[in-house]
Amino acid sequence: MLCVFAEMCRYPLGMTGGQIQDEDISASSQWSESTAARFGRLEFDNGDGDGAWCPDIMSEPDGLKEYLQVDLRSLHFITLVGTQGRHADGMGNEFAQRYMIKYSRDGSNWVGWHDRKGRQVIEGNRNAYDVVLKDLEPPIIARFVRFMPVTDHSMIVCMRVELYGCEWLDGLMSYSIPDGHQMIYRGLDVYFNDSVYDRASAERLTKGLGQLTDGTWGLDDFLHSHIYGMWPGYDYVGWSNKSFPKGYVEMIFEFDHVRNFTSMKVHCNNMFSRGVRMFRQATCYFRSGSEWEADPVTFRPTVDRMSQTARFVTVPLGDRTASAIKCRFHFSDLWMLFSEVAFQSECNYLGIWTLMVKSNPPQLPTLILSLIGDDPTHKVDDSNTRILIGCLVAIIAILLTIIVIILWRQVWQKMLEKVRITAAVLCGFCVCSTSGPSTSCKGVTAGGSDSAPHYAEADIISLQESSDSSTYSITAVNMNLFAGTDSSMKEFPRHKLTFKEKLGEGQFGEVHLCEAEGMQDFLDEDLSIEGNNESPLLVAVKTLREDANKNARNDFLKEIRIMSRLRDPNIVRLLAVCVDSDPLCMITEYMENGDLNQFLCNLRLKEAADEDKTEQEENEGKSMVSYSKLIGMAVQIASGMKYLSSLNFVHRDLATRNCLVGKNYTIKIADFGMSRNLYRGDYYRIQGRAVLPIRWMSWESILLGKFTMASDVWAFGVTLWEILTLCKEQPYSQLSDEQVIENTGEFFRDQGKQVYLPKPACCPERVYANLMLSCWRRNAKQRPSFQEMHAQLMESLA
Ligand code: AMP
Repeated sequence: MLCVFAEMCRYPLGMTGGQIQDEDISASSQWSESTAARFGRLEFDNGDGDGAWCPDIMSEPDGLKEYLQVDLRSLHFITLVGTQGRHADGMGNEFAQRYMIKYSRDGSNWVGWHDRKGRQVIEGNRNAYDVVLKDLEPPIIARFVRFMPVTDHSMIVCMRVELYGCEWLDGLMSYSIPDGHQMIYRGLDVYFNDSVYDRASAERLTKGLGQLTDGTWGLDDFLHSHIYGMWPGYDYVGWSNKSFPKGYVEMIFEFDHVRNFTSMKVHCNNMFSRGVRMFRQATCYFRSGSEWEADPVTFRPTVDRMSQTARFVTVPLGDRTASAIKCRFHFSDLWMLFSEVAFQSECNYLGIWTLMVKSNPPQLPTLILSLIGDDPTHKVDDSNTRILIGCLVAIIAILLTIIVIILWRQVWQKMLEKVRITAAVLCGFCVCSTSGPSTSCKGVTAGGSDSAPHYAEADIISLQESSDSSTYSITAVNMNLFAGTDSSMKEFPRHKLTFKEKLGEGQFGEVHLCEAEGMQDFLDEDLSIEGNNESPLLVAVKTLREDANKNARNDFLKEIRIMSRLRDPNIVRLLAVCVDSDPLCMITEYMENGDLNQFLCNLRLKEAADEDKTEQEENEGKSMVSYSKLIGMAVQIASGMKYLSSLNFVHRDLATRNCLVGKNYTIKIADFGMSRNLYRGDYYRIQGRAVLPIRWMSWESILLGKFTMASDVWAFGVTLWEILTLCKEQPYSQLSDEQVIENTGEFFRDQGKQVYLPKPACCPERVYANLMLSCWRRNAKQRPSFQEMHAQLMESLA
């Protein structure tokens, strides 16, 4: 189950795509045959129906009992739902403004979903055509899901729906644990209860699933949470040693059927300075039938006494066969806190077989038929001929599937051939593998030596020569715009610069804070920079390192040429240069608060509970920033980008690391040339040849080498995501560089398997759905312009 992270698992489960069969969609009632349950598929408006599922409101006057039910046929981890009304090409105008969700794993026990604050009702549609997506926070694990419009009997409602998530491979149906305890830490109430457990809780929680399977792992500091606005301790379920005289906590895990278990992963907190430590020993018992087996597996991890980071501890389960596991976790300190438990197993058909033989021998043929796809409840003919025919049918079906897959791969290979050629050019001399539907570069590493030219210059220029003109035409636009030297950029007398301190180090060399005497004479009239004519001005001086090679020198001069022509309040201004002699220097305005990435990283989001700051936070001295300030920053970046796009200039490396922060949260876009050493991990290095900021790049930039305003818009979406997550992690931090490239292939294929960056906790749904996600639309033409995004962000500030 470790592959399932709540953020990554957002695939449409088949209402739109048709993978969910008509017979698996049912409803409490239907208005007419043409509005039956099977027409309740999101974005599905053709066929013989009337464009949606509509219940017969007369059959249930209180309206609340109507539902549209989807059977997913197996357990799924569901993170998102989408709803839409009945449009029917303008003939319909019915929709559900509010609805609730119920779910079940076995089809008989139903649970009403509620959010982390206990709210059950979900805001639905406002018109009959727009799709409204709703994150299920917490996510659910279910096979059956019911959408229940909330309405009164005077209103006709119609719905089309989709579920998003992925298959729940753990097979875990429920766990049973003692509910978590409350800790008092320095006068602060810290609750370690399993607050999302989905069965009625008593002292011992039984037959449900909850926080241990919600796909969210706790932070190192258990007082904090990933989830916005929750109480201290929210991410963990925890127990105090004092309440367990035997020194261990017992947990029972029940599975859908018999499996072979290789391991169990337990995410534990280890903040031993506060009396919390990972477990000292785990003893696990196995059960396949009704009795627990006598020989348990015992595992003693090395208890980490050095690092306080929370971590997954892997407990090997020795390939034991079971449908239930009982584990005793022994305390090694005053408290034990878990945030996630996951199992790795394989479905064990032999185990099911043996179990069936033991319990009910005459049922064997039924079992065989059920394994090859027949319904075990059907009348059974147990003759050998029937079994043989069944097996032959299964083998033929498997062969046919293999043939279809081979043919499908061949078609894809042809389609990807073109991509391979361009990707090969893009990758220079690295090996680009495009076998099958995935395109990935091998033999590449992130980071690397400093001497390689940045992709944004040398490589794209060489690509321009070797590929069709349309693909790289934007580079040509940039090159034309900034070709030649700029006579307006004045040479500043070097001896009038007085070094104050080092600000940082970039690809070219060091950046220094200097006093520039007499700089006022060099400034344009339009430039209002604080200071007076007498006192020297503080400036940032970027110097090309002395051992720089010819490429780096050319890149440096190119950045000067580019910057000298840009004039906008949200673009860092080049004031003067020293290029008559070595070392080459560019003098830019000084931005007091450094780069935006570092700046945000040191901030914390201001929220209601901030009056109760803990002592530790105060000691860390983290200042606060409000959501509206963050949007204010995004507005400024959008404004700077609007200016660049008005010049047809493509930045190609927009990211928080390339924006600078001045006084009063002023933001300016910088770095028109190179990446920085500090952020080398953000770039994907291709065998020392070029570096690519792949986590910020659109699919067409990575696969086709196409850099346009629309690919800058893509990067803006990622930058906005960074801002709203306060740069606490790298985009797609759980994916390796190679996986990011694989994901790019998914954007290209567009089969709904692409992974999007998740909604930041503080980001309103409408900003995520209308703005951020729109930046990552596959079709570049459908992405918004910077002008539109600027207006939209301004509006959200109002
Ligand atoms: P760069 O070479 O542009 O990547 O810059 C390297 C480091 O110098 C960054 O970490 C910035 O924080 C700092 N820096 C660059 N330009 C400025 C500036 N104009 N004002 C203040 N700090 C700067």
